[in-house]
Amino acid sequence: MAANIHKNGEVIADVTTHPATKRAVESHARCLDLARLPEYQSLLVTKSTLTGHKILRFNSLMCTPDDMIANMKLKRLNYHTTGSCVGGMCVGWNAFNTMWAVTADIDKESGSDYHENLKKWLIQTEAQGLLVSGALTDAKGNRSLKASQQSDLDVNLRVVEKRPDGVVVRGAKNMICSVCASDEIFILPGNAYKEEDKDFALSFVVPRDIAGLTIVEARRPSDDREYQNGFDVPDTGPAQSYLFFEDVFVPNERLFMCGEYGHTGKVIQYFTANYRACIGACVSGQGDVMIGAAVNMARANGLSYKTFMDKLIQMSANNETTYGIGAGAIALGKKDDAGVWVADSLIAHTNKIHVATLPYETKRLCQEIGGGIVETGCMPSYKDFTNEEYGPLIRKYLKAGDCSAESRARTARLAEWLTIGAGVPGCMHGGGSPDGARLVVRANTPFEQYAEYAKKIAGVEEDLKDPVAAKK
Ligand SMILES: Cc1cc2nc3c(=O)[nH]c(=O)nc-3n(C[C@H](O)[C@H](O)[C@H](O)COP(=O)(O)OP(=O)(O)OC[C@H]3O[C@@H](n4cnc5c(N)ncnc54)[C@H](O)[C@@H]3O)c2cc1C
Repeated sequence: MAANIHKNGEVIADVTTHPATKRAVESHARCLDLARLPEYQSLLVTKSTLTGHKILRFNSLMCTPDDMIANMKLKRLNYHTTGSCVGGMCVGWNAFNTMWAVTADIDKESGSDYHENLKKWLIQTEAQGLLVSGALTDAKGNRSLKASQQSDLDVNLRVVEKRPDGVVVRGAKNMICSVCASDEIFILPGNAYKEEDKDFALSFVVPRDIAGLTIVEARRPSDDREYQNGFDVPDTGPAQSYLFFEDVFVPNERLFMCGEYGHTGKVIQYFTANYRACIGACVSGQGDVMIGAAVNMARANGLSYKTFMDKLIQMSANNETTYGIGAGAIALGKKDDAGVWVADSLIAHTNKIHVATLPYETKRLCQEIGGGIVETGCMPSYKDFTNEEYGPLIRKYLKAGDCSAESRARTARLAEWLTIGAGVPGCMHGGGSPDGARLVVRANTPFEQYAEYAKKIAGVEEDLKDPVAAKK
């Protein structure tokens, strides 16, 4: 692909070898490796509902609860082999499933060809086994203003020109996961828009190296370590990028929404419900590795892991909570008329609230079990660890349990990376902020109905009303 990814003033010629991108590429490569192993075939590979051919699971339409639960299982498994996420294909997977339903609606209403466009692109994508990242735009600008009210309209991705054969778009996406590992970028509107914002109601897909797109890699806490070798950073990990679209041409056949603002609400509803159901598996997968790191740290420190059983049980319970709520949201979801499965909104958004809370407790417990050297910046670098002059001193005094100093140092570094380093996935804002999820929980909770249940059971017969001046 053309080199359009930048970091520290340098253009990255090869994403598979550059320190800023190679770990994200390796994470995705491990997922593809799993797909070749017979024991994981049924999870990583499936049959296309469009062609009947054997395809990679993350290129598929999710039409049943089992399909979507496979999404969860796949992510948890990936975390077990990488310690981190495969965002370079997971957001895109969810995005094209969402647009499968939405394009069918738009076409029915307006006679457009969006659904057919999507179908053709998807059949090709399945056949080639492409990795598709996803971006709910946008940079957003001033959070209290609508897209059309911003002083710089480009802060939300928009159409700036319509041509007979396509459209020209301008704008940005801040924070997209592991786009350096992906082949394509699938764009969705970032908000539910009204008529005045119709230029921002956009969905399309472009190759990652399309002309006019500049990508900048974000800085990570472990940046300085990533440029060195040794055990300071694992061989895997996420990468976050900024996308800048400067008058990018999108041909009609890659366009799935362009101005149909009335359908943007459903985009947000479907995308967030499915994403927030499945992300419970991501954080539980990383939590499993944190449990493992905590067990290993205890032993490397000379203690039995059973010393910390209460904490380890809590870590496991946290993992299963987000995993189980996600699975519940999927099981209680419904099929859209277009055939794709949609998780239950109330339960999925409830999961997001837990996803933005419980993993932080799991990280805290992992640190508590591991001791000071797993906290950020509390252990010498690999370079110092192996220094000829004073490296032996570091190794002598890092030795604790019945294992080498190097095993203890490696485990501590992994625990640091998992709990407060670059390995932390987007539990808080990835897939949207938890306050947005709280709004959905609020909107879908029938408070009045519940008050009635309680009144009847308590034998209260009079009306209990909010004070007139009460704040909403
Ligand atoms: C690790 C990571 C990976 C990511 N990967 C992807 C990806 O692959 N694809 C993708 O599309 N996105 C990705 N994102 C981006 C993510 O979707 C955004 O971070 C998310 O939409 C939240 O937006 P924001 O970060 O701009 O926060 P903001 O929207 O600025 O929110 C900050 C806070 O302000 C509150 N807030 C915002 N607006 C208002 C308002 N009008 N009124 C009251 N409160 C408000 C929010 O609830 C939140 O508490 C990723 C993010 C992270 C952290």
